[in-house]
Amino acid sequence: MKYLDEYRNPDIARRMLEEIRNVTTKPWVIMEICGGQTHSIIKNGIDRLLPKEIELVHGPGCPVCVTPLEQIDKALEIAGRKDVIFTSFGDMLRVPGSDKDLFMVKSQGGDVRVVYSPLDAVKIAQDNPDKQVVFFAVGFETTAPNNAMSVWQAHQQGVKNFSILVSHVLVPPAMEALLSSSQNRVQGYLAAGHVCTIMGWEEYEPIAERFKVPIVVTGFEPLDILEGILMTVKQLEAGRAEVENQYTRVVRREGNRPAQDLVAKVFQVSNRKWRGIGEIPASGFSLRPKFALHDAEQVFNVGDLKVDEPSECISGIVLQGLKKPYECPAFGKQCTPENPLGATMVSTEGACSAYYAYSRHDLPVDG
Ligand code: SF4
Repeated sequence: MKYLDEYRNPDIARRMLEEIRNVTTKPWVIMEICGGQTHSIIKNGIDRLLPKEIELVHGPGCPVCVTPLEQIDKALEIAGRKDVIFTSFGDMLRVPGSDKDLFMVKSQGGDVRVVYSPLDAVKIAQDNPDKQVVFFAVGFETTAPNNAMSVWQAHQQGVKNFSILVSHVLVPPAMEALLSSSQNRVQGYLAAGHVCTIMGWEEYEPIAERFKVPIVVTGFEPLDILEGILMTVKQLEAGRAEVENQYTRVVRREGNRPAQDLVAKVFQVSNRKWRGIGEIPASGFSLRPKFALHDAEQVFNVGDLKVDEPSECISGIVLQGLKKPYECPAFGKQCTPENPLGATMVSTEGACSAYYAYSRHDLPVDG
């Protein structure tokens, strides 16, 4: 299949691995930002094929995983109301809140519906004027344009019974927060290709310069990831710290300007809490005051809800690249995809579920 098979060619993969082995002379720790990349790495065994000097650690780029527990609880509270139709992408329905998930709310009579676009939720609101229709707007920069469009459209068309529960986070502030930590191990980044499709990579240049880390915008197929690693290792070995683009078939330096303009009209940058990591300044989006009527936190007055994360889950440490999933005492025992304790086991893009799916629970603690 063109555009897929050509990025999974085993002969080219072998040649790239050989080149990575040839250029590697020292140990390096490289973080892939995106959960989709993590999944591809573990599924294809890329981490096991690399020279032993290169360690891949898995970053916080899975939106389901970093959505804080209190945001899930807000969704559950809103979804349980009789006058509400609560809409969401399917991946949020199994994410556990403090004592239930959206599936349980649905089984208890809540009107919870899976949609494939926030614009579908606007249509549901138009068709149900006697109900409040809420869309759970979870994601990184990638999904922000669609969510912005839904609010923009509802505002323009006077659909007053449509709102979104916003849980939008931004990648560059999280990368900076990880690099600023005294525990940081990351020496190079594979940046998330789809985020850069929207935002470009100009924002990454000051990070590479300030922290002296190479950042390579990278795709998701096995050859994309191998090439991203090769480009990163070449920079590390040469003492360079620049932003480079492996994902040239999709990403441009300036990104998608019309999408960025729409996002800026609807959203403003705000502080955001990341599950397991805590609050990172200016690391997310919230709706501009002009769109307060479409802000579910204000419509339902749930903005102040605060809850603590379960103490046994170390997903925050996993998401910072400080531990691997199999180092969590609950991994594969109390915590499985059927009975997840944390969001990194629920989401198919989560590091814990990727390790579980591909039987990485038999590894020793030192890998
Ligand atoms: S295995 Fe489960 S409990 Fe452990 S870090 Fe992953 S999600 Fe949390």
